Amino acid sequence: MMNGTAPLEERLDFLDRCARCSQCKFVPTPQSQKHASSCPSMDFVEFHAGSASGQLIMGAGIAHGEFGYTTSLLDAVSACTMCGTCDVSCKINFGESVEPLDGLYALRAKIVDDGQSPKRHRELMDRITAEGNSAGHPRTLRSAWADGLSLGRRCDVLLHIGSTLAYDTNKHAALRAVVQSLQAAGIKVGYLWQEEGSCGALAFDLGYRAQSRDLARKFLSQVAESGAKTVVTFSSSAIAAYRSFYPRMGFSFGDVQPLHFTEYLQQQVAAGVLALGPSNSHGGQTVAFHDTCKSGRLSEPWQRKDLKLTSQMGGYYTSAEPDKVLFGNDGNYEAPRQLLKLMGINVAELERNRAASYCCGATGGVKEAVPAAAKMAAQNRLSELQGTGTDVMVSACGNCAHHLGKHTKGQATVVDLIDLLADSLRPANRGN
Ligand code: SF4
Ligand code: SF4
Repeated sequence: MMNGTAPLEERLDFLDRCARCSQCKFVPTPQSQKHASSCPSMDFVEFHAGSASGQLIMGAGIAHGEFGYTTSLLDAVSACTMCGTCDVSCKINFGESVEPLDGLYALRAKIVDDGQSPKRHRELMDRITAEGNSAGHPRTLRSAWADGLSLGRRCDVLLHIGSTLAYDTNKHAALRAVVQSLQAAGIKVGYLWQEEGSCGALAFDLGYRAQSRDLARKFLSQVAESGAKTVVTFSSSAIAAYRSFYPRMGFSFGDVQPLHFTEYLQQQVAAGVLALGPSNSHGGQTVAFHDTCKSGRLSEPWQRKDLKLTSQMGGYYTSAEPDKVLFGNDGNYEAPRQLLKLMGINVAELERNRAASYCCGATGGVKEAVPAAAKMAAQNRLSELQGTGTDVMVSACGNCAHHLGKHTKGQATVVDLIDLLADSLRPANRGN
């Protein structure tokens, strides 16, 4: 395995190993032809260029100097949500010999380095630089959700809210309820208020490595100043950044533990600090759970490994340590399901779940740069409700929930897990 931030030229060997087998277009074990696809950009572009393999071929062409940038090339790359399902599917066959996702990261970084970043990506980065969020909301409103709460900067548990929930006034009551339950249980939680900025995940996805490094460096210094031993984020992008992107860029949390809020709440309930009562709105009902790419497979901790690849099996490369290949299986899948069950809610599985979950289209800059692709992905995902016995889809990601909720066409209900938790969570010592 190579360093995940290697420039495209340094990844050439890996790009050139792509066998053009197209496995990356499909989930490893499809349950039906209708939902066999793993790749939202392939579904939208409807040509090989939309797939991971197509992008690797284009990246190799650029790195070899065989061709330059064209509008259609950049359009195809911009439709990729950086969701990483291709990586899971490819590794089932080829272990670490191709690693398509790291090739996609390198291609996007090369596009930025060559000054070819699409206009909408540049606009996203300008807004992140100016206001600390990609939507361009004023920094002064970032902490409005917490007005009146007593949240210091020195703490045991530092909360990272993320821009999606922080600026969504429909989520403020739920956020406050969850935080007040933590405080009532005696947990010393803290917050950075208007100093909380972007985690750097979107900058990383868009290929803006220098900016992503700066954002990571700043956040880690804020964590150190807080004295916290645990960081709890309500953002799916942030947990992917902490566990997958920061290590790729050489950053470490040291002895601080970064957790997604679902993991932290599950731990606190299991420890008897917090309790969950039955859900008033969905108790006894069945819901389908949407695994978010970034808090799912992309929250699998990334580790630098300098493994030697050996030429075996008639010329294929196989890892010298196949048991260390990152298949996405160590992502955060069980905590949100457990929380739903603890609230008396039954969980139905979508055909594409856990490491093979299908992206809703809201990530990787696609929602902003190619909205039609993002809409198609959401509708594809929602169509998976058919046959599950429920028309309710729950997500633990505010970004996914908001995006999916916009595209239900009145035939499904999308629920943000934090709204359910806010109604049911309480300190354990208050009883159920
Ligand atoms: S990226 Fe992997 S799965 Fe996709 S075509 Fe290449 S070798 Fe096959
Ligand atoms: S990251 Fe997702 S959208 Fe991009 S090529 Fe891979 S599967 Fe397709």
